[in-house]
Amino acid sequence: MIIGISGTLGAGKGTVVEFLKERGFAHYSVREFLVEEILKRGLDVNRDNMVSVANDLRAKFGAAYIVEELHGRAMERGGDCVIESVRCVGEVEALREKSKVQSPKSKVGFVLWAVDADVESRYARIVERGSSTDMISFDDFVRQEGSEMKNENPLKQNLKACIEMADVCFRNDWTIGELKGKVLKALDKFESDDFVIEGGYIRPTWDEYFMEICRAVAKRATCDRGRSGCVIARNKQILVTGYVGSPIGLPHCDEVGHQLEDTIHEDGVKRTHCIRTTHAEQNAICQAAKLGISIDGATVYCKLEPCSVCAKMIVNSGIKRVVCEKRYQSGAQSLLEEAGVLVEVLVDEVEKY
Ligand SMILES: [Zn+2]
Ligand SMILES: [Zn+2]
Repeated sequence: MIIGISGTLGAGKGTVVEFLKERGFAHYSVREFLVEEILKRGLDVNRDNMVSVANDLRAKFGAAYIVEELHGRAMERGGDCVIESVRCVGEVEALREKSKVQSPKSKVGFVLWAVDADVESRYARIVERGSSTDMISFDDFVRQEGSEMKNENPLKQNLKACIEMADVCFRNDWTIGELKGKVLKALDKFESDDFVIEGGYIRPTWDEYFMEICRAVAKRATCDRGRSGCVIARNKQILVTGYVGSPIGLPHCDEVGHQLEDTIHEDGVKRTHCIRTTHAEQNAICQAAKLGISIDGATVYCKLEPCSVCAKMIVNSGIKRVVCEKRYQSGAQSLLEEAGVLVEVLVDEVEKY
């Protein structure tokens, strides 16, 4: 299978490519191809030259010249490959045509995947990434993008049309873990026998759904050392929510500052924590107590692996499963598991404070 990746700048194309590489896909990049060509011509490597050299090659050798070259290399190698990134209508058409000719028996010779996200998130990501081609103001970013979004000429970049032509479009407005879940799900679908393209939209799983709500809840948090949220759900329904914050009626960290205290952890390491707040998980459990809602047998969704106090409360509330986005340096997964609570960490990374 050959997957072409399209999408807007900063949307997460590279991240999707990394997921595919982890699954054994070979990577062919238009960017690398263009950088070679720009250096050959003795030009500076910047975004304007990337666009002008690409347009020049397309005008001389055909709309799909670059991706066709990459497609050729991919076919020579064989197996699963990903071509990053497809940027104009002519390229999509040529790749679709080529895969028809070269793999008539294959159900899926070539598929186009697109990645998109809202413009503010994308700009924030490219600033954070800080590569030499990305150092521009927000206004310039929007202006440059505008010219790449809607070219009528099939030889020129038209990201909007490519995204519309994609077999699947991934929205990447949240986190890497959530994007990865969607990508792996799509890949399993493509690789399975009953592969059908369902209008290009992939619904979130229940876990993704509750985790997204958890991130929205977290925005109400009042301590900037870690704005985390929590959702407790059972049978596909939300029971209660909570976010990190001071007890009701007491001042917030955002107003009066943190209340820092050194804590010696079970592992003997001393760390400083803000103790003004109640953790998101604890606040959710308190909400259940206040409202008289049983959370026995439920699942907890939270940002980080729970701390040991939260873990003990989770165990004694009868909660049976914990889904968290990342590990926490003072997390209590082993305590939870010892007590028979299933723990699932979406991204195997440790969040530090
Ligand atoms: Zn605080
Ligand atoms: Zn906690």
